[in-house]
Amino acid sequence: MTEIATASLHTHRFADRADGYHPSPVREVFEVSMQPNMISLAGGNPDLTGLPIGQIADMAHTVISEHGLDALQYGSGAGTPELQALITQIMAVEGITAQPENVQVTSGSQMGLELITKLFCNPGDVILAEGPTYVGALGTFEGLQADIVQVAMDDKGLVPELLSTTIDSLKAAGKTIKFLYTIPNFNNPAGTTLAVERRQQIVDICRSENVAIVEDNPYGLLSFDGSYTAALHTLDPENVIYLGSFSKIFSPGLRVGWVLAPEEVRRRLQLAAEATTICPSVLSQMLVESYITGFDWRQHVREACLVYAKRCDAVMTALAEFMPAGTTWTKPSGGFFTWITLPEGISTDALLQPAIASGVVFVPGSAFFAHPAGENQLRVAFSFETEESLREGVRRLGAAMKTLR
Ligand code: PMP
Repeated sequence: MTEIATASLHTHRFADRADGYHPSPVREVFEVSMQPNMISLAGGNPDLTGLPIGQIADMAHTVISEHGLDALQYGSGAGTPELQALITQIMAVEGITAQPENVQVTSGSQMGLELITKLFCNPGDVILAEGPTYVGALGTFEGLQADIVQVAMDDKGLVPELLSTTIDSLKAAGKTIKFLYTIPNFNNPAGTTLAVERRQQIVDICRSENVAIVEDNPYGLLSFDGSYTAALHTLDPENVIYLGSFSKIFSPGLRVGWVLAPEEVRRRLQLAAEATTICPSVLSQMLVESYITGFDWRQHVREACLVYAKRCDAVMTALAEFMPAGTTWTKPSGGFFTWITLPEGISTDALLQPAIASGVVFVPGSAFFAHPAGENQLRVAFSFETEESLREGVRRLGAAMKTLR
């Protein structure tokens, strides 16, 4: 049977929500990133080269031989009790006090985002988010037919006054706002961190306007200088639902993340999670437990951050050298990304093909907005390539820009 015939056979059967799923702009350029000699400023992959891989292989062997068949069996829908408890200790680093039973383990924090959206949003409900925001969150929200309204940021993160006025006008238009989705630390893609003095203001605005906060914090422990900022969750534990992940501090391939939520939400998250995956991977959870208890994981994170800091510096220097006059960029103090604003009139969507032809790939700014915006902006990820490649990548980017004009 031909592909066309198969397509027409099923087309009319898809649910309305199927149209909400689009190819992720980040995953689309993934293939290009794999081409020989291509420098990727696109994907936010953590650099795993510092992990003690031989010892981790021994650890995996021990996990399976010690836990035996339990490691290969179904487990609790909430996650293993051991991992739930360890996660509370990790969150304590950012000042969070939590009980293990409030932790829902998920197959990556992406799954947590999807579960929260499913539980809270009817089609047409509004989710507030930073502009720009995480591509994967936009994909989830759009797939579940939420109405995404983005609020501008400056170099101190989300602007509280704009959040207030946006909420006011949405309410005046009769909209139902379910939650604010925010990445306060080392924002993906903006690279900015929400200023401490704004955190209380934002928490207060959301509480008084009856809007929940979904705090997505996969990068919080990745500051270049080893400092941590207290999570929004510490300011209003009842109204803030917190998402965490082992993807950036250990391994994204194991797919282990978590949601910290008040009990009534946590219980429903478990039910929704069970309907999707029955339980998180028991083996992955045991590997994470073993890594966290058996290795100096914080030392590993510190060492990785020193590498990221140097790579970030290399990008900052190269941008100053190779970008056209009038270009600005954020100065991250942690995480994986910087956000670049080119002079008006340069379209980063139009720049992508010439850039690829010059051997560098990036994600255009428009990918980080639900509605047309970010035309002259782009994200640069500095987490994965070496300092030399990053410099060369930015040089190629600058050269590709010249071909546009
Ligand atoms: N939130 C943000 C802001 C991210 O950058 C990512 C990964 N790129 C995720 C969530 C998803 O992470 P995980 O691997 O835990 O699903």
